[in-house]
Amino acid sequence: MKAIRGTRDILPDEVGYWQWVEATAREILAAAAYREIRTPIFEATELFERGIGEATDVVGKEMYTFVDRGDRSITLRPEGTAGAARSYIEKKLFAEGGVQRLWYVGPMFRYERPQQGRQRQFHQIGLELFGSDDPRADVETVAVATDILQALGLKNLTLLLNSVGEKDDRARYRQALVEYLTPYKEELDADSQDRLDRNPLRILDSKDEATKKIVADAPSILDFLGDNAKRHFDRVQMLLSELEISYQLDSRLVRGLDYYTHTAFEIQSADLGAQATVCGGGRYDGLVEELGGKPTPAVGWAIGLERLIILLQQLGERSAIVPDFYVVSRGEAAESQATVLAQKLRRSGFKVELDLSGSAFSKQFKRGDRSGAKACLVLGDAEAEAKTVQLKWLQTGEQKTLTQSELLSAEGELKVALNQ
Ligand code: ATP
Ligand code: MG
Repeated sequence: MKAIRGTRDILPDEVGYWQWVEATAREILAAAAYREIRTPIFEATELFERGIGEATDVVGKEMYTFVDRGDRSITLRPEGTAGAARSYIEKKLFAEGGVQRLWYVGPMFRYERPQQGRQRQFHQIGLELFGSDDPRADVETVAVATDILQALGLKNLTLLLNSVGEKDDRARYRQALVEYLTPYKEELDADSQDRLDRNPLRILDSKDEATKKIVADAPSILDFLGDNAKRHFDRVQMLLSELEISYQLDSRLVRGLDYYTHTAFEIQSADLGAQATVCGGGRYDGLVEELGGKPTPAVGWAIGLERLIILLQQLGERSAIVPDFYVVSRGEAAESQATVLAQKLRRSGFKVELDLSGSAFSKQFKRGDRSGAKACLVLGDAEAEAKTVQLKWLQTGEQKTLTQSELLSAEGELKVALNQ
């Protein structure tokens, strides 16, 4: 049996990266007062059709949709925003007053052609800030994203920034864009021809070379922004500069979804090849109303974890769980004592890996080296007899024998030594 195409196992060797990313994000999100929300993996298909928009690729081509035994159309969530917004409305999270800052992490599902950094089951960490139309909210969310990526040690990242304006601005732009593109219709790629009526802004995002050339001279949405959108966008840029977050304006950057307004942004990496976008987000003041809630401004983003972890692996950042002690033992009495010692050390807060092989000491030592542990604890027949243990620091080779109870009561000194 094999894993389904477009899915993959995250094996123990890799999972340390995931835990590290999640822990880092969790801390930074908490520091900015974001609270975690966990919504279901599957929802009514209609939620995504209305929330994401029927003319988008995600809804049109990529959803995992099925009819359940009760004849309901169900879809595995392709993204996290629609579910969070549904919950915000249904659970009246707005009733708590003011702004709601939420974040989530988990698997998402899209039927796409699998390739490096693009899977059918993939994972996102995302945040949503509901209830503020203030440009400071846009900037806060961008800053939290860049802080997370920076805390993980990522470099070579570019923040691309655009404004797609308010609904009316976008409508006027859409018309100008269609007028510009129509004479070139035959030269556009098939998808883009198809989008010309349904979702022309999406053509700006085409990866097709011929289409890209045509689009290069298309009118810019920034020339269509009304006063309100301009003011908003100016303030966003000013605050980003004050925070020393550098960005590049990219008037071709559109988020595909109809509910986006004002700020749109992506964070791209030069080290990812074709799948360069690590984080995508923006303001979506229209969504909550579209889903049946009261008009509620909102802004959010999602980070693709597979792409992020590819980058961390390229950096060679070490994140595996490394034990403090690797316990080596041989002979029945020694093995029993080693088991007890290991568990007692764990209870005192040490990370301890117990070698269970019963093989020759030399082989156990080799594995101890490979584990990355700071020290080995060694018990043979002699140690078992005397209730002692040998403590061997792997970096210096320094070694001493002490009684097992001395070891257990040296907690403080050991922790100091381990942190050096
Ligand atoms: P792309 O243009 O790469 O398809 P997108 O615009 O569809 O991206 P979003 O819906 O904005 O992506 O999702 C946010 C992030 O989630 C992306 O920037 C990417 O890092 C990640 N992502 C999206 N789809 C996939 C996928 N199929 N596999 C892995 N990661 C993905
Ligand atoms: Mg996509």
